[in-house]
Amino acid sequence: MRPRLTQSELEAYLDEDLAAEKMAQIENALRDDPKLLEVLAMLNGQRDAGVHSVGEIWRRGHLSCPDREQLGSYLLGAMPDDQHSYVKFHLEKIGCRICQANLADLQRQQDEVTEISAGRRQKYFQSSAGYLRE
Ligand SMILES: [Zn+2]
Repeated sequence: MRPRLTQSELEAYLDEDLAAEKMAQIENALRDDPKLLEVLAMLNGQRDAGVHSVGEIWRRGHLSCPDREQLGSYLLGAMPDDQHSYVKFHLEKIGCRICQANLADLQRQQDEVTEISAGRRQKYFQSSAGYLRE
């Protein structure tokens, strides 16, 4: 079954501004569906005519990108629901590569911190175990 594509997804496709997986998905859909190709051609034509949808302007300016602090809160799940779903939409549906890269970077930092404190805990347990045996 083919997922329905939205206009903004097609526009993002024209900009090559989607995650690689999504790009491939749309390419496949276009191959199977001449109607969809027509829609894409029409969108492309509108661009030449200077018509830009809000979604397009929004994406091009990266106006919607959450900042790093917000991404950090998102990662920790320390964000109000509406903001959380907005960031989730931005990352997963818009597939913003900049924010995905930022998030991956934050995730890596967080993993390092977790590892360090796990290591400390381990040490602590070992020393108290040694202490108890004496
Ligand atoms: Zn972004």
